[in-house]
Amino acid sequence: MDVDVGAEPPMIPARHETLWFPGGDIVLATNTFLFKVHKDLLALQSSVFKDMFGLEQAVEDVQGILQLGDSYEGLPAVALAGDEGKDVAHLLQAAYYREYYDRDNDETPLEVIVALLVLSNKYDFKHIQSEVMKQLSRLYPRKLDAFDEVDDNGYYDDLFGTGRIWCEYRLLKACLMTNTTVLLPLLYYACAFLGVDEIYVEADRAGGLDRDYLRTLIGGKFQVDLASRKLVASLPDEFYSISCSSCKVSTRFSKLDEQIAPHLWSYRGNTLASSVLVGSCKVCSARLESRIDEKREEIWEKIPSYFGFPGWDEL
Ligand SMILES: [Zn+2]
Repeated sequence: MDVDVGAEPPMIPARHETLWFPGGDIVLATNTFLFKVHKDLLALQSSVFKDMFGLEQAVEDVQGILQLGDSYEGLPAVALAGDEGKDVAHLLQAAYYREYYDRDNDETPLEVIVALLVLSNKYDFKHIQSEVMKQLSRLYPRKLDAFDEVDDNGYYDDLFGTGRIWCEYRLLKACLMTNTTVLLPLLYYACAFLGVDEIYVEADRAGGLDRDYLRTLIGGKFQVDLASRKLVASLPDEFYSISCSSCKVSTRFSKLDEQIAPHLWSYRGNTLASSVLVGSCKVCSARLESRIDEKREEIWEKIPSYFGFPGWDEL
């Protein structure tokens, strides 16, 4: 009865249903929701809010992102410029309720993960930021054998309430926005799983990637492909250098031209050797498998550089 939804629909923010605490002492305003929350709790978790509340009088533009100065029903109000109300709601729910976000739960909706990643960075909620990073680092490991397991478990498996591959462009974009360098080579590599046409489609679906980032992604993809093909092309010579005298004569290679795949998972030693070797003894097969795995590791070490980053240890 007191809600006049029809009058000015677009720009009147409403009190958030649950994040409106009677004892709250500050109002956060977005374009869609108002949140009545507690300064102390925000200051405890976020250095940006702590800095702002530490200042005596109304201040404009603390770190360029907060504006304190207006009031709402006698309480100080802060406009969170540029943030979506539903995203701020996710951040505040995570700040207030321990059970709202669990880093071990991979069924958390993607929009929650992205909102927490972006806003915990923006407002420096260190604990939330650290929890999200632990989850994403587990899902995007920087060791090749661990990443093989990611691929092995299926790129089309569920993650964050959708298919894994459909998450990665959103996550890449969020990490680019927040300059989360430590995850970027892994997300670029993950996104490079798709063909070039699909890359453009998914980049659009994620809300668009700047041209430079698209160039990095596609350029890196070609470098991964090239390195993989060089590996395959080197196999006959490699085999000749490590095989017994009998195998040097009797073994042949087949289907080398069919070994084309976007990720190193497809080039694992045992898989690749058994796909291409014909007539080799077991000892020589095993030697080639080991050699392939060494070469795969060498390529993996270069993955960051393919996407314009320093080595894994320097990220
Ligand atoms: Zn042999």
